[in-house]
Parts: sequence; C-alpha cells; structure tokens
Amino acid sequence: MNTHEVINQAPPRAGVDEYTTNTALVEAVSRHDAGWAAERLAATGQRVGTVAFQDDAARANRREPVLRTHDRHGHRIDEVDYDESYHRIIAAAIADGAHTAAFAAPGPGANVARAATFMLYAQVEPGHACPVSMTHSVVPVLAQHPDAGASWLPRVLANSYDPALRAGKPSALFGMAMTEKQGGSDVRANTTSARPRGGGRYALTGHKWFCSAPMSDAFLVLAQAPGGLSCFLLPRLREDGARNGIRIQRLKDKLGNRANASSEVEYEDAEAVLVGEEGRGVRTIIDMVARTRLDCILGSTAGMRQATAEAAWHARHRAAFGALLVDQPAMTAVLADLQLETEAATATALRLARAHDADASDADRAFARLGVAAAKYWICKRGPGHAYEALECLGGNGYTEDFPLATRYREQPVMAVWEGSGNVIALDILRALGREPESLAAFDAEVSRAAGADRRVDAHWERTRALAAEMIDAPDPARAREVTASLALALQAALLVQFAPAAVADAFVATRLGGEWAGGALYGALPRGTDAAAITARI
Ligand SMILES: Cc1cc2nc3c(=O)[nH]c(=O)nc-3n(C[C@H](O)[C@H](O)[C@H](O)COP(=O)(O)OP(=O)(O)OC[C@H]3O[C@@H](n4cnc5c(N)ncnc54)[C@H](O)[C@@H]3O)c2cc1C
Repeated sequence: MNTHEVINQAPPRAGVDEYTTNTALVEAVSRHDAGWAAERLAATGQRVGTVAFQDDAARANRREPVLRTHDRHGHRIDEVDYDESYHRIIAAAIADGAHTAAFAAPGPGANVARAATFMLYAQVEPGHACPVSMTHSVVPVLAQHPDAGASWLPRVLANSYDPALRAGKPSALFGMAMTEKQGGSDVRANTTSARPRGGGRYALTGHKWFCSAPMSDAFLVLAQAPGGLSCFLLPRLREDGARNGIRIQRLKDKLGNRANASSEVEYEDAEAVLVGEEGRGVRTIIDMVARTRLDCILGSTAGMRQATAEAAWHARHRAAFGALLVDQPAMTAVLADLQLETEAATATALRLARAHDADASDADRAFARLGVAAAKYWICKRGPGHAYEALECLGGNGYTEDFPLATRYREQPVMAVWEGSGNVIALDILRALGREPESLAAFDAEVSRAAGADRRVDAHWERTRALAAEMIDAPDPARAREVTASLALALQAALLVQFAPAAVADAFVATRLGGEWAGGALYGALPRGTDAAAITARI
C-alpha cells in the first residue's frame, strides 16, 4: 500500500559524539583537571553514540535477564542469563575503565575522567552501571583491608570482563548485599548470622531481600557475628572451586533498571571472610556506600543529559504550526529549563568527583562528606520530574518504548531509592551537621568562593547557614529535607555563578533561588529576559 509519505519525523539521534557535544561536561572535565582524558572521552562519546550501542541498550532492557535456578538434571546452579547485548555493553564499559580506572591510575582528575566515562555509558544504558559502580566502590574497602582484599584487588582493577562463573578468572565484579526483608535503611535489623569457623572465616546463613548483580564474583555483605553487625567478603565460589552456599531465589520485577538482574538471595553456610572488625560492619562498608552515592549522582546526571539532548534533538527536527518546535518560545523555554537542571547537576557531579581524587585535601574530603549527601538527595530527586518533562517534548513518541525516554523515565527514581532514600539521606545530613562540624566549615568555604558574584546566592547562603546553625542547636527531623535541599541548591548556584555562562547562571539563580519560577515550579516558566536561545544552544 502506498498511502502516504512519512515526513516531519525526527531522524534517529545516532552517530553523535556524546562527549564533545556535551558542552557542560567538556567544560567541567577541563575545569577539574581531567583535560588530559579528552581524547579518550571523545572516543567513548562516539562509541556510545553509535546505532549499534543504542540498539544494544534497547535490546538489553527488552530481553531481560532470566534466572536459571537448576540445570536440566536438577542440580542447583543459580545463574542468570543475560542477553549478549548486555555483555557487550558492560564489557565495553569495563575495557574503558568506567569501573576502576581512577584507582588503577590515580592522579589529579582521575576520578573526574572516570566519572565522565561512567556517565557516558550510563547515559545510554543505565542497568549495567550498577555492577560497574559497585566494583568501583569496593576498591577503598579492599585496599584498607588487605587481609581480606589483597587477592581481589588486582582482579577488580583489571580491564577485562568475563561473565563465566569459574575459578582463576583474571578479573572480577563486586556486588553488595545489605538490605533484608525486615529492614533496608535500618541495617541494624539484619538477621543473617555469621558463625565463626576460625582464621577469620565464617559461615553465613540468612537472606538478602535485594542483591543487584547476583552474577558478580563476590559481594560485601552485612551479617550478625558474635561481636555484632559485621562486614564480610562473600565469594560466589568457595576456595575449593565449588559453588558457595548462595541461592538466588528470584529476580525482582522492577519499574525500570530492567537490564540489571536485581535478586533475592539466601545463604546457607556460605563461606565468607571477615572484613574489618566484628561489630564494625557499618563503619567498614560505609566507604563503599559513600562511593556508590556519588555514582547515584553521576547516574541521575547522565540521565538528565540524555533526556535534555533527546528532547532538543526532537524539537530541532520537528515542526508544528509552521515552525520548528525549537524556535517556538514556549518550547525554547522548556528546553532551556531542562538544560539548567542538567548544567547544575553536571557541575556539581564533577566537582564532587574531583574531591575524591588521591590528592584531595582534607578540606575537600570534608566538603565531599556533606556535598555528596546533599547532592545525592537533590539531584536524584530531580531526575524523575526532569525525565517526565523531557519525554513530553517528544509528544506521543516520548511515551512509547520505541524512544529511549520511556526507559529513562522508569529508570530515574531508582537512584533516589537505593544507597539512602530521601529521608535517610536528609537525616544523615542532620547528623553530619551536629557531629562533623568540619564538613559544614568546608562546605561553607566551597560555597563562599562564589561570594559577591550574585546577591541572591549570597542571601540564600546566609539563610542556609542560619538554618544549619538552627539544626545543630536543635536538630529537627521534620526539617531535614529543608536544610538538605538548601545546601544542595547553594552548592549548585555557587558553581554556576562561578563557571557557567551568565545566561545559565542567572536563569538558574532567578528560578531556583530567587522566587521567579512562575507556574508552580514546573519546567519552562522562566523569568522575562532569560536568554533561552543561548541556554539551549549549549545542549
Ligand atoms: C532496583 C534496586 C536495587 C537494589 N539493589 C540493592 C543491592 O544490591 N544491595 C542492597 O543491599 N540493597 C539494594 N537495594 C535496596 C535499597 O538499598 C533499599 O530498598 C533502600 O535502602 C531502602 O530500604 P527499604 O527498602 O528496606 O526501605 P525502608 O528502610 O523501610 O524505608 C522506607 C521509607 O522510609 C524512609 N525512612 C527510613 N527511615 C526513616 C526515618 N528514620 N525517618 C523517616 N523516614 C524514614 C525511607 O527514606 C523510605 O522512603 C536495591 C533497591 C532497588 C530498588
């Protein structure tokens, strides 16, 4: 049948260098001492922008992982089958150092370059980023506890990916299992028991309600030892090469993140070694958690970039009522506003990544303590609404699974849920304000670098300081979100007024701090005089 010609549909957004076209990312990479990685990042940007990579990303989320509990003869095997597309994606990310490059070759900007690499992959396929992030995050724990970690370190630093479950692999992926049925945020409620077997070895019996990436080679796990809640390194294979006592009960049927096989597991006399001291489990695993929190920020930011770029692409190729959408002021304002959020998140994410480099000062580390928590809360919470608004820019197409923003919309909430849900992070901020005064002092110094640049930022910071002081004197959990959001916005605004073009900084400050966000704080209601075209040009 030849009924019509297809016109006015945007071409696929493919063959784009996702790095060099991302102006805010390129600027932040250079600002934070990772300009040396530009060439490699451009190669990554080109790779993830290819049709082949995008097709793999779509396929990995459609052809979901399948659990095989038994082989055909009835033996328990507890393996997950992934589509080949998933293996190709994670292999590429690991070959590129998206997991542990910052530890393998530490130096100024190493974490910034690694963050940008991680973001480029996560922008196109978010599911694989979970095991990649956990493998990155476990390194500080393994390094601090050579008794348990020494033999694993070279394997997590390796750039090869081998999905097989076999002994003697030169590389390894790590997962983490803390959450149980009766308590996730409150891990003190963990009931999994750890029975000492001598020589630092234990037998673990119990369950975990969430264990993402159950095909990882090893996990950090919390369990109750005689001395209290403790951290253990739990390998999938026992020392004799046999499968460890880990049973994958079922895979979670999740809202999004579908390429990633999150599971429920049970342990029966599973062999594990103690990491750190008995009773110090939370203290030991917290270094891993802190890194994964930063990666939640990176993941949400990567998602914002994808959403904004796809929305702008569509608007630049689609006409309605006689003009391209991108040139119609109501749409330009929405795109500009989406970009403001992306710019703020990108600037914040890479500033925080730089504070994780080996040469970071004590002040930088103290700044990161509050900075990561506040940004994890704010940026991850901003993700879903941002994806929703971007999706609408594609009209009906945006709501279909043929376009990537439906997947993105379902993906974004997870970054806020795991590694400290909103309230948990906000309460953590309240605790840090009271117990770690050096972190507020360092955060103050960071924001104060922008002092005098914009009176609205100065005024906001004065209010935030006063609120923080109030929370130190009389901590009020009901106001924990208020102080957390204020800190995050202060940091974002301070970074933008220092480093972003005036059009971006001014519109961000006017809307997010200056009370000029008309229309109920929905996107696209920017104050009169905003140079929306200049902002959208940066997309
Ligand atoms: C896709 C996915 C993958 C995951 N993968 C893993 C994994 O690999 N390993 C792992 O260990 N976990 C994993 N998790 C679990 C995740 O970390 C937990 O779901 C999360 O920590 C929250 O714990 P919970 O579900 O028990 O909720 P709860 O702790 O019961 O919290 C429920 C709600 O109450 C709030 N809340 C908690 N305490 C307070 C308080 N004191 N005051 C006010 N509000 C409070 C929380 O913010 C939350 O909104 C995963 C989760 C998801 C969705």
